[in-house]
Amino acid sequence: MTPGIKPLVAGNWKMNGVLASLSELQLLNSGFSVELQSKIDMLVCVPASLLFPASDATKSSAVQIGAQDCHKNLSGAHTGDISVEMISDVGGSAVLVGHSERRTDHHETNAVVLEKAKTALAHGLQTVICIGETEAEKRVGTTLDVLKSQMAGSIPDAWEKGEMIVAYEPVWAIGSGLTPTAEDVRAAHKFMRDELVVRFGEQGAKTRLLYGGSVKPANAVELMSIKNVDGALVGGASLKAADFLGIAAAYETIA
Ligand code: PEP
Repeated sequence: MTPGIKPLVAGNWKMNGVLASLSELQLLNSGFSVELQSKIDMLVCVPASLLFPASDATKSSAVQIGAQDCHKNLSGAHTGDISVEMISDVGGSAVLVGHSERRTDHHETNAVVLEKAKTALAHGLQTVICIGETEAEKRVGTTLDVLKSQMAGSIPDAWEKGEMIVAYEPVWAIGSGLTPTAEDVRAAHKFMRDELVVRFGEQGAKTRLLYGGSVKPANAVELMSIKNVDGALVGGASLKAADFLGIAAAYETIA
């Protein structure tokens, strides 16, 4: 938590979900109580094929819909890609950039992520820039060096529209059931906060910093209570509304 920052609980369905999965969004709509809405924001980043139906299914609720990637260009000859305009055109208000699965599967460098982030922010999207160390990097004690260079390389120098959000996702914790110790999360988030404040001043002090990597209802209160953790980015446990709402419910108990 950070005083004055409204937490964001964001889901990432990855390459999961078909039209029948929209029933989970209906459950989120009804389970995201007015009281909880006053405490947190909720976002679900669905596959591109579900952006329109998911936006439609949540149009009268407070659940926001986002995409999992975008191209740096606004249009053109980029087979298979999706533009920021396409995302917002069908009701998406957010996008993930630089998720570790994109960095690994699609060889996305910090420079590529930076260009995507600039385009998404300029288009007014909430832009979640994902960073995090690999298991090998953690083992040799370079976690904070990795975060420093990913932040320097992937976060734009300035933006006038949109909202820049940073998600710390240790690669080894994603989908593994493993999580860093609370002390390691605290240290990483303090480091990110300090870096942002040095670079952006008050804007950096207000930037939402999410933790991602095997967040589930059972560990959400502990992880979300850590200083400078302003919400979660949730993969596997976002696929079932009951689990995702269970994570969001952590904020009913966190003061
Ligand atoms: C993710 O995909 O961003 C993620 C954190 O996955 P999981 O929650 O399944 O570890």
